[in-house]
Amino acid sequence: MDLSIVIPIYNEEENIPLLYGEIKEALSHFDRQYEIIFVDDGSKDRSVELLEGLQEQDEQVVVVAFRKNFGQTAAMSAGFDYAQGDICVTMDGDLQNDPHDIPALIQKMEEGYDVVTGWRFDRKDPYLSRKLPSQMANRLISWITGVKLHDYGCTLKAFRKEVASNIRLYGEMHRFIPAIASGMGISFTEIKVNHRARQFGTSKYGISRTLRVVLDLITVKFLLSYATRPLHVFGGVGFLSSSLGFIMALVMTFQRQFFGIPLGSRPLLLLSILLIFIGIQFITIGLVAELVVRTYHESQNKPIYHVRKVLGRDEGTATTG
Ligand code: UDP
Ligand code: MG
Repeated sequence: MDLSIVIPIYNEEENIPLLYGEIKEALSHFDRQYEIIFVDDGSKDRSVELLEGLQEQDEQVVVVAFRKNFGQTAAMSAGFDYAQGDICVTMDGDLQNDPHDIPALIQKMEEGYDVVTGWRFDRKDPYLSRKLPSQMANRLISWITGVKLHDYGCTLKAFRKEVASNIRLYGEMHRFIPAIASGMGISFTEIKVNHRARQFGTSKYGISRTLRVVLDLITVKFLLSYATRPLHVFGGVGFLSSSLGFIMALVMTFQRQFFGIPLGSRPLLLLSILLIFIGIQFITIGLVAELVVRTYHESQNKPIYHVRKVLGRDEGTATTG
């Protein structure tokens, strides 16, 4: 199998038949073996019945139906778990992405990239509630993660199978896959893709998504930079805070001893004690995090590195990981 197309579906009954038709048509002249994996994310409309109908007629269709709504990230994750293709392509189920872009995406992958993302350069969504927050988020994410992309939010992306299956996603992290994967040392690029306004059904997200994206960004940054050495972050902050508090306390003690300035009436005393305590707390949190990291890696035999290839040894023969 060359290609698995993963599509999260949540209440998209009007879109499913059209989408299916478009994919079939777009890939009819594209000489690759493919499967379409629809992941129904607990839809409350007729989506599941429609998908089951498609599956009965067409064995290229795979349907994974969730028991309840677990969210788009979970749906995409499930798609990766069931995918058999060498390349996974993800796209929205609401016709906003254009299946005719898939061949270009795959051709780009075949030039040797591990991840190719779509860039909706002419995005058909409302400006204030969608395009502006998204523009700002893209700049921020690019700057903080160092993975420069114009459009993180575009679901139309292609991943090599190893990338898709090696990444664990939580919360609403699906948009960050390129950034997370960059921590594995993968190569990525983006291509311009078509985008269309939503015709049927409604968007599943509101403006509150922006805050969640920013919070997720903190997690991603932390995982990317410090996941295997948390004490370097927490310890650093803690050490600074404690030292500052300690110096202040020292100066006040000195003043009290030699110049007779009374301690009790100085608010600075409270600040210095606070700083010392916060510092100690940060350092102990860092130590606890070090334990957690070890449990995370060692209980699952997760290596702290990613190997491209091994010469002179079978790849599976490392004694750990
Ligand atoms: N989706 C999903 N589960 C959810 C929310 C959304 O599977 O809880 C799917 C939805 O059916 C669509 C895709 O994720 O195929 C993108 O959702 P939407 O179009 O609402 O997002 P937007 O384009 O507004 O960012
Ligand atoms: Mg949409």
